[in-house]
Amino acid sequence: MRKVSVLGATGSIGESTFDLLKDADVAVVALTGGRNVARLAAQARALRAEVAVIADEALLPDLRAALTGTGTEAAAGTQAVIEAASRPADWVMSAIVGAAGLAPGMAALATGATLALANKESLVTAGPLILSHAAQHQARILPVDSEHSAIFQALAHEDLSTVTRILLTASGGGLRDWPLERLARATLQDACTHPNWAMGQRITIDSASMFNKALEVIEAREFFGVTPDQIEVVIHPQSIIHSAVEFQDGAIMAHMGTPDMRHAIGYALNWPHRAALPVKRLDFATLGGLTFAAPDLTRYPALRLAREVMAAGGLAGAVFNAAKESALDHFIAGTLGFLQMADLVQATLTALSRESDFHQSPKGLAQVLAMDHLARKTAHQIAAEWGRA
Ligand code: NAD
Ligand code: MG
Repeated sequence: MRKVSVLGATGSIGESTFDLLKDADVAVVALTGGRNVARLAAQARALRAEVAVIADEALLPDLRAALTGTGTEAAAGTQAVIEAASRPADWVMSAIVGAAGLAPGMAALATGATLALANKESLVTAGPLILSHAAQHQARILPVDSEHSAIFQALAHEDLSTVTRILLTASGGGLRDWPLERLARATLQDACTHPNWAMGQRITIDSASMFNKALEVIEAREFFGVTPDQIEVVIHPQSIIHSAVEFQDGAIMAHMGTPDMRHAIGYALNWPHRAALPVKRLDFATLGGLTFAAPDLTRYPALRLAREVMAAGGLAGAVFNAAKESALDHFIAGTLGFLQMADLVQATLTALSRESDFHQSPKGLAQVLAMDHLARKTAHQIAAEWGRA
């Protein structure tokens, strides 16, 4: 029987994965969560997991108690998450949020497992490193971000050299129609709503600021090996076209469906087959209109920053992601305004572009994590200075 593990099982992607696994013919090796012991234990029980790991070490006694009598081993801590990811499995879902997903994903790849990659931050932070690591261990990476799954599906059996453009669709997030001056005053609650997708809090805010799309542009460049100018972001408020690829003959292949992450997760789970999935079907007759618009870069500075990061190369992606995570922490804590997030990322990139490492291709995980750490510290210092000013 196929062995599978889920990293970040208690999150939004993790729950959608759980939903597909509960009816699948698989043996579950490891499930990991951040803090939600009750949910992790319930999933482990339902899937008869070998091991359940909670990232917060202090919660080990609670997890042990919750797993009593189940036969599932309990473990806790960051290192235990990495160890769980290293247990032999055929397929591993990487759905931890943020750069915290990088090391566990690398550990899974080192076993030769197929990595279903929802954690886009891994490719943004250390794209070339992850891809060479996967190649070295003959491990496959399958994209789970809906856009990248759509592109991957549109590219099946195609010759990459015939691709002229990748059209990355963006809903525009929950604040798409707000006037710019009102955006500056957007609260946490305002930014936490999404018109089409139900997702984790962090990615929902990133959708409103378009930092999510900025990460995805870099993710697409890394994963598909296209040049930055081949990637075009298109606002498509209905989220029906999940992304598209244009070929040199002018043909465009688009992936369409209801906005449900189980499309992309299910495709990665069953690849190279297409299995039946419990997703709602599209009804063209009642769909109404599909609309498109070019994004306004003054409104979404994150998209401009993504271009600068791709031009800089080296460890710029690691700085970009870490500064973005720090800016998001500050926004959630109420110490930074919505539009100031991009200002903070810009200021951090400028400050760290003077570091000699910034322009180097990452040689190993330690170097990436050191840059990630430095970028968070720098961003935090800049935000603190702004707070005092
Ligand atoms: P989420 O916040 O709902 O869940 C994140 C998971 O990671 C949870 O299980 C959480 O407990 C765990 N976690 C958080 N911090 C951790 C840490 N430091 N160490 C170990 N575990 C930790 O997030 P999500 O929306 O499910 O997103 C997960 C990833 O998938 C992100 O990289 C996101 O960008 C990507 N993604 C999500 C969606 C979506 O629809 N939610 C779509 C595309 C891509
Ligand atoms: Mg996406």
